[in-house]
Amino acid sequence: MTETESNTYDVVVIGAGPVGENIADRTRAAGLTTAVVESELLGGECSYWACMPSKALLRPVIAQADARRLPGLAEAARGPLDTPAVLARRDEYTSHWQDDGQADWLAGTGADLYRGHGRLAGPRTVTVTGPDGTLTTLTARHAVAVATGTRAQLPDLPGLADVRPWTSREATSAKAAPGRLIVVGGGVVATEMATAWQALGSRVTLLVRGKGLLNRMEPFAGELVAEALTEAGADIRTGTSVESVRRENGTVVAVTSAGDRIEADEILFATGRAPRTDDLGLESVGLEPGSWLDTDDSLRVTGTDWLYAVGDVNHRALLTHQGKYQARIAGAAIAARAAGDTLLEEPWGAHAATADHHAVPQVVFTDPEAAAVGLSLAEAEQAGHRVRAVDVEFSSVAGAGLYGDGYRGRARMVVDLEDEILRGVTFVGPGVGELIHSATIAITGRVPVGRLWHAVPSYPTLSEVWLRLLEAYRDN
Ligand SMILES: Cc1cc2nc3c(=O)[nH]c(=O)nc-3n(C[C@H](O)[C@H](O)[C@H](O)COP(=O)(O)OP(=O)(O)OC[C@H]3O[C@@H](n4cnc5c(N)ncnc54)[C@H](O)[C@@H]3O)c2cc1C
Repeated sequence: MTETESNTYDVVVIGAGPVGENIADRTRAAGLTTAVVESELLGGECSYWACMPSKALLRPVIAQADARRLPGLAEAARGPLDTPAVLARRDEYTSHWQDDGQADWLAGTGADLYRGHGRLAGPRTVTVTGPDGTLTTLTARHAVAVATGTRAQLPDLPGLADVRPWTSREATSAKAAPGRLIVVGGGVVATEMATAWQALGSRVTLLVRGKGLLNRMEPFAGELVAEALTEAGADIRTGTSVESVRRENGTVVAVTSAGDRIEADEILFATGRAPRTDDLGLESVGLEPGSWLDTDDSLRVTGTDWLYAVGDVNHRALLTHQGKYQARIAGAAIAARAAGDTLLEEPWGAHAATADHHAVPQVVFTDPEAAAVGLSLAEAEQAGHRVRAVDVEFSSVAGAGLYGDGYRGRARMVVDLEDEILRGVTFVGPGVGELIHSATIAITGRVPVGRLWHAVPSYPTLSEVWLRLLEAYRDN
């Protein structure tokens, strides 16, 4: 086809997940013409098969667990969840896997949407193969931003495809609870989905290759979550991997490294993510197809002056909020470079995604919740910081008692002994997800421990855990 002027834009964004949408929003706000290419649904993995449906499944599970800890309410919350109603609400949350609302929003920004598969075809050039096979060529005056995200990574097990295993997509969009569900993995997706489906009616067996759950967090996070999952009825087997899997008359049969034969109705592999860069034309610009894309702090791909990689695809922090943060930074950096302005990078400039290095918050929506920001004790020590960890139990916090009799939880802060600032904070317990931003601010602002005494938490809230942490640091 012949290229027309209307196919030339200041910026071309490939992928309209939360990250691609936010880049386009920022570049349009800066007055740059912007094309957005999307091969599936605007809103990406997060809106339809990840954050939104998983949290919609988990919210009633956690609310019920909270209710069961409260005398006076526990009796009323004793029955099983109404699974069809929970799934119906999940469907509402995913807009029934329709993206009209997001398409309207994107149109409102003034960006042009191209539906189809985007591929690089040399510097500043993107070809789009539309649903009907038509080919459109887009040229970028200033920048191409890749925001194509990730897909589930499956292990290399013979015959796995014939088993039709669940990935995170099926686990978040299933129309009914399987009677028996094997979950393979011990990370965030595995523990959240095990929590959800166990409460929604499945008998869950969790097969974890490592020693415990959530091994990127402080060890007590995985321990407390495993304890609660076991009490909820899940069968957790650590130090166990799947050796072989097949379907016999519709039933999944998995044989583990321990020699156990486990039967189930479905098997979910939550065994990591792979970048969606294998069919992206990376070879046309001298990059390796299928690789994660390395960037500098302005999110520009190493060795180029026009290509950006933003969100999951750069492997800096596979979280929606962090990807959207990067999108704001990348959008601002693209606009500044287009205008010939100097970038603002240090120390907290608008054009450098510095938080990715030292203050990435994450909440795991299990019961109890696990929330962490910054470095764990082991990570801080490994990075060469001279640190001390301070631990307290939430049982010493008056506000925790209000949550009910059985509140179990723990907090840790990792203090850098050189500057007396925080390197990392972890909270585990019901409701702690809402606490973590206080720690993010303390770390990002490099607030000295002495100054934290003057940030007075309200009585009687869970936030008083800060006082207990400061006291424990002072007294030990
Ligand atoms: C089960 C699960 C639960 C999660 N829960 C949370 C949570 O609670 N909180 C949180 O912060 N994070 C969560 N995450 C992580 C979160 O989903 C990702 O960090 C986020 O979706 C990344 O956004 P993105 O825009 O980079 O990529 P994606 O959301 O993956 O979007 C990429 C988009 O690019 C499109 N695309 C890909 N290739 C092409 C191409 N060649 N041409 C055109 N379009 C293309 C895709 O169709 C997709 O729409 C969860 C992940 C999973 C799997």
